[in-house]
Amino acid sequence: MKKVLIANRGEIALRAVRACNALGLESVAVYSAPDAASPHVWAATHSACIGPAPSAQSYLNADALLHVALSHGCDAVYPGYGFLAENADFAERCEKEGLVFIGPDAETIRLMGDKAAARKTAKKHGVPVVPGSEGAVSSADASAADIESIGFPILIKASAGGGGRGMRIAQTPEEFPGLFDQASREAEQAFGDPSVYLERLISKVRHIEVQVFGDGKGNAVHVGERDCTVQRRHQKLLEEAPSPVLTGEERAELHASAVRLAEGVKYRGAGTVEFIFDPRTREFFFIEMNTRIQVEHPVTEMLAGADLIAEQFRIARGEGISVEPPQSGAGHAIEFRINAESFENDFRPSPGRIRQWEPPRGPGVRIDGFVTSGSTVLPYYDSMVAKLIVHGADRAQALERARAALSTFRVEGIETTLGLHRHIVCNPDFIESDIHTKWVEERFLPQLHGRDQ
Ligand code: ADP
Ligand code: ADP
Ligand code: MG
Repeated sequence: MKKVLIANRGEIALRAVRACNALGLESVAVYSAPDAASPHVWAATHSACIGPAPSAQSYLNADALLHVALSHGCDAVYPGYGFLAENADFAERCEKEGLVFIGPDAETIRLMGDKAAARKTAKKHGVPVVPGSEGAVSSADASAADIESIGFPILIKASAGGGGRGMRIAQTPEEFPGLFDQASREAEQAFGDPSVYLERLISKVRHIEVQVFGDGKGNAVHVGERDCTVQRRHQKLLEEAPSPVLTGEERAELHASAVRLAEGVKYRGAGTVEFIFDPRTREFFFIEMNTRIQVEHPVTEMLAGADLIAEQFRIARGEGISVEPPQSGAGHAIEFRINAESFENDFRPSPGRIRQWEPPRGPGVRIDGFVTSGSTVLPYYDSMVAKLIVHGADRAQALERARAALSTFRVEGIETTLGLHRHIVCNPDFIESDIHTKWVEERFLPQLHGRDQ
């Protein structure tokens, strides 16, 4: 592997260029017309425009991406997260053209991308799944037996879903058929696949996920867990590691389950096995596996002392797994997603020109981003402009450092979620970690707005 096409934009594209540099690889950046001035473009060894602003004509344009890869003499393609990262057809096309797709093989992407099929696979490998339907269900009528065994409330989920979309909650048998049809129609529209499956909606759960790496031959390791319970509309806002609520025994069991699944499917590369955890019953259940690197990988890097993107490249080159689980005493890390959104106005997007960007510095403070003073945040793409990651010897120190870093982070010209995070890190529920995945919507935001009025 000598030259890598980076099929993405934003912070992950820039992060991938850094990993290429660390490994002595040449990088080829791609960009849509309005992204021409983006830092991943000048940071890379080479670059090429792949189309106009809309993702469908640029970052999702497989023909354009493959053309650039081949005409530049690339031998590998790095997909990052989002866009084509979990597109099995794209992975297959890369391999057909003789390009190494830096990720699992197309078959594994396809298997895990079908969340109903992934449930079955997890179950087969002895990983507990949420009580739910055996596979996809074809109609509301055909769900009678499943409904009986699952019990309400029921979560109707798109088999091809992702990014927190394509879910409906049915509280009663009366509303189930209508919501089932809605979910199916929405899934068809958003993902081109109307299949849905059912899970019991478990209330007041935490989201805890395990980072894994596999060598494609049946060996896998975990690199610890991340707690992503702070969410809004099923989208993560901040993530931390280790989870503040697990006992050593629970943690070991969770890690072992994830590794069992990765080994069972002979997983290759980086993946994340997501679970929900019920703090009352102390049970955890598999919800899905993401067959790519995740936005929140830096919290794991801080604890493991490893470059997980470089590890993806090394495994794609056919080298064995070199990362190890974090050592005891690795400390605590928290990541804050800085989105160009006005959290006081229902998280309305806030694109535009950044007049001033003054990130904090200090021990244990890391910023992964791609904007600076004078940058323009475009309205066409994901609103995340940077991630602030803090690390401390323990959670209390990480929180102290987070408060200091957030309070000195100055951004002018656009609105961001920095203000939201400043409130969160001072909130007693968050400090005690007495939270669940609906905490932001049901408790935190109502309290915040009540106080603001
Ligand atoms: P995480 O944040 O845990 O890495 P997400 O599911 O939030 O995972 O996805 C990461 C990125 O990929 C986000 O930009 C999200 O919007 C995008 N994404 C994930 N799944 C899909 C999908 N099926 N369709 C479109 N975008 C997606
Ligand atoms: P996506 O592919 O969109 O990321 P997930 O299956 O990972 O979808 O679910 C997204 C979020 O929805 C989870 O992080 C969790 O907060 C919530 N969730 C998913 N399944 C359940 C469930 N059965 N009960 C309660 N909450 C759930
Ligand atoms: Mg998920």
